[in-house]
Amino acid sequence: MDLKIRHVRKDYGVFPALNDVSLDIRSGELVALLGPSGSGKTTLLRAIAGLETIDDGEILFGDEDAVGWSVQERNVGFVFQHYALFRHMKVFDNIAFGLRVRDRSRRPAEADIRKKVTGLLELVQLPDLANRYPAQLSGGQRQRVALARALAIEPQLLLLDEPFGALDAQVRKDLRRWLRQIHDETGHTTVFVTHDQEEALELADRVAVLHKGKLQQVGTPDDIYDRPATPFVYSFIGDSSSLPIHVRKGEALLDQTVIPVGSVSGPDGEARLHIRPQDISLQAVGQGVQGRIALLRRNGAFRRADIEIGADRTLIEAQIPPHLEVSEGDQVGIHFERFAIYPSGSRQSI
Ligand code: ATP
Repeated sequence: MDLKIRHVRKDYGVFPALNDVSLDIRSGELVALLGPSGSGKTTLLRAIAGLETIDDGEILFGDEDAVGWSVQERNVGFVFQHYALFRHMKVFDNIAFGLRVRDRSRRPAEADIRKKVTGLLELVQLPDLANRYPAQLSGGQRQRVALARALAIEPQLLLLDEPFGALDAQVRKDLRRWLRQIHDETGHTTVFVTHDQEEALELADRVAVLHKGKLQQVGTPDDIYDRPATPFVYSFIGDSSSLPIHVRKGEALLDQTVIPVGSVSGPDGEARLHIRPQDISLQAVGQGVQGRIALLRRNGAFRRADIEIGADRTLIEAQIPPHLEVSEGDQVGIHFERFAIYPSGSRQSI
C-alpha cells in the first residue's frame, strides 16, 4: 500500500514536533525515519498509526484519507524498542493474539491460526520456541517474536520504532540483516524509526532525515551520504569537520588566501566548508592549504589526525593512510578531494 504524508503538522506547546512534513512512501518500500533525539520521528510514526492526532495536513493510505480512522481501522503492525509481549502468554499465543481478538466475522478458524503462527515462527527462525514464555527468551528472540506478532494480522503497513535499540551491537547488526531479508520475502511497506545513521543507511531503500520536526532530505542511502542537501544532513551522517570560509566571486578563501577547490557557485559572503576525514589528502608543505598536525590517533585500519588550519586554528579531522610517515607537530599541505560548501546561516548547499 502506498502511504502519502502531506504537509503534516503537530504542535506540542510552543514549538512544532512536526513542521509541514511531506513524504511519499511507495508500496513495498522500506523507509527509515532518521534523526537525533527529539527530532519528531516517533511522533510521525504514531501519527501514521493513528495513536496521535495531527493539527494539520493529510495522511493517505492508498488514495484514502486515513486521518479520521481508528488504530484498528488502519490495520498496522507495530514493533517497539521495548518488547510489548504479553508476559503471561507463551510465544505461540503472543503471535496468535491479534487474530484471536478479532470479531467473530473476521476471526480465522483455530486450525488456520495454528498454521499461520507455525509459518511465522519459521519465518522469524524460531520454530522450536513456541512454548516458551517471553522471560525465557533473549532480547533478540523477543524482538523476532514481536515482529512475527506484528506480521500475523497481515498489516497494510509495518511500523517499527527503534526495534533493536535495546540490544547489544552484534545482535543489532544480525537482526538488521535478518529484517531486510524478511522484508524482501514478505514485501510489506515498512517505516522504521532509528537515530542510528549506520542502521538507516544499511537497511533502508530510502532514508528520510528529520531535524527539529522538519524533513531535511529524503533519498537513497547514496543520495544522503554522497549528496547531503543541508549542513545538518552532512554533519549528522558520517564523521565530518567544518571550516569557516569566505566566498568571493566564485572563489573560496581562508584568511584572504584562495583555497584551491575550483570555482564555487553561490552568493558571496561567509560560508562553511564541510569535509569528511577520508576526503582529505596530505601533500608536501607549500602545496594546498597549510596546516599543522595537532593530534594523531588510531582509527581501525587507519589513523586520524586533527589538523589545525587558518588563523583561528580550526581543527579538521583527516584520515591518514597507515604507512604515511607523519608525526604530531608536523606542518603539512592539505588537499580537499570532496567537500560541500554551505552559505552561513543557510539550510541549503551551494
Ligand atoms: P527520540 O529518538 O528521543 O525518541 P524522536 O525523534 O522520536 O526522539 P519525538 O518523540 O517525536 O522525537 O518528539 C518530538 C518532540 O516533541 C520532542 O521535543 C518531544 O519533547 C516533544 N513531545 C513528544 N511527545 C510529547 C507529548 N506527549 N507532549 C509534549 N511534547 C511532546
